[in-house]
Amino acid sequence: MKILIASAEVVPFAKTGGLADVAGALPKALNSLGHDVRVIMPKYKMVDSGKFDLDKIYDGIEVEMAGRKELADVYEGVIPGTNVNVYFIANEKYFGREGLYQDKGVDYPDNCERFSFYCRASMEVMEKIGWKPDIIHANDWQSALIIMYAKTLYKDDPFFAHAATVYSIHNMGYQGTFPADQLPVTGLGPEYFNSESLEFYGKIALTKAGFVYADIINTVSPTYAHEIQTAEFGHGLEGLLQARKKDVYGIVNGIDYDLWDPATDPNIAAKFSPKRFSLKAENKKALQAKNRLPQIDVPVIGIISRLADQKGFDILAQDIEGIMQMNLQIILLGTGEPKYHELFKEMKKKYPGHLGLNLGFDAALAQLIYAGSDMFLMPSRYEPCGLGQLISYKYGTVPVVRKTGGLADTVTDGKTGFVFEEYSAAALLDAIKRAVEAYKDRKKWQALAVHDMGLDYSWTMSAKKYVELYEKAIEKIPARLKRREKREADSSIYTDRSAAW
Ligand code: ADP
Repeated sequence: MKILIASAEVVPFAKTGGLADVAGALPKALNSLGHDVRVIMPKYKMVDSGKFDLDKIYDGIEVEMAGRKELADVYEGVIPGTNVNVYFIANEKYFGREGLYQDKGVDYPDNCERFSFYCRASMEVMEKIGWKPDIIHANDWQSALIIMYAKTLYKDDPFFAHAATVYSIHNMGYQGTFPADQLPVTGLGPEYFNSESLEFYGKIALTKAGFVYADIINTVSPTYAHEIQTAEFGHGLEGLLQARKKDVYGIVNGIDYDLWDPATDPNIAAKFSPKRFSLKAENKKALQAKNRLPQIDVPVIGIISRLADQKGFDILAQDIEGIMQMNLQIILLGTGEPKYHELFKEMKKKYPGHLGLNLGFDAALAQLIYAGSDMFLMPSRYEPCGLGQLISYKYGTVPVVRKTGGLADTVTDGKTGFVFEEYSAAALLDAIKRAVEAYKDRKKWQALAVHDMGLDYSWTMSAKKYVELYEKAIEKIPARLKRREKREADSSIYTDRSAAW
């Protein structure tokens, strides 16, 4: 199959969260299964041509934007260690900035325009390259318009007519919502501003473009695939997802063990494996030292996360002092909402020997934290898949998680980690206490950690499931084309406002 993966972030080029991990690893795994996979993403300032050995392949491709032309330069590279091609859409005005989506916590005001440009340019680039995908797999709101364009503006273009489309949602909390007056920058007319298309409570929601127009909708765990069809987790889009429930799937993410393996990880203090588990302790010492914490034998709990309510920081905050006063150390790496930056700074002042505080994004330090911690905490309110718990497994670090989404699918209480169900400070504290208690029996603890290291969350299994999903999407094309023919034949009496299907 020829598979195009569109994602606004891809490891190792640009990352703010799990989407980048998936978009870097899934293509690699699909490629190993024999498919022709290519990736398309924006070329942000941080994507350095020299560092990543990129070649410019097109200069100034014209892209239609709200009645005028903008120019896209196109660079080509590969995902390191593979022959998976990555195309980078460059435009200084849109992407020559420090951040991907925001600056100092504030979203760029022209994100709708920036990512419309990326999507529109992606269509042009595929045609220019002459590589006709069988599957277009777009991810999250930033690339959702690629799917919509294939079904609307480019629907008569034979280049796209037979492409099957899959839309993956990695987090329902981010829908790419913009004021209605931004519609023109998408290149789509007012006929698309209605509840069956892009309109969402008087605004534009780009995620809806994926949900409405994709042949198959996918998310990153089976539990989350059910959850997003409920009012609690659907963020207002549950009705639409229920209506399409036959097309909604969930596949748990894998982990790229080429990058995440304590036996080969260059960023940790001492490499280790299940057989050489005792060397994990060297990483704990190094981690404590780096965080200027006493090098004592108390449980070290790692947290690596966006500092957002979604990740459970509100319940953590409620009884943070109760936790700080326990005989343990917390090492936190994260960045996000200012209120949590303030909270943890205050805790650091009050409990300097109990908290290692790293407010920022640091990929290398993350690896040392996974390696050096005894436990890894993810008290998420909701969690589409979660990668931290899977990475932790590989590093013999036992996850303590809330039972939701992908965490519910991957962590079993008492068998692979510690799980609490109720979203409350008390339930969270209870889970931490149970883990700390279990840690006291060091033999049993080591057996648990070593067991977790052996769990297989490599991409191979997940990639095979994606192939099945792509096949399902391809099967839907003949019926879709027939529906369209019929609609066009009926068009004198029937006006389909979105004209997508
Ligand atoms: P998200 O909802 O943020 O995508 P995931 O658990 O799916 O959550 O993935 C988060 C990924 O980002 C993991 O690889 C995690 O290690 C990484 N990560 C999160 N915050 C940081 C940070 N501050 N520094 C380095 N890596 C981080």
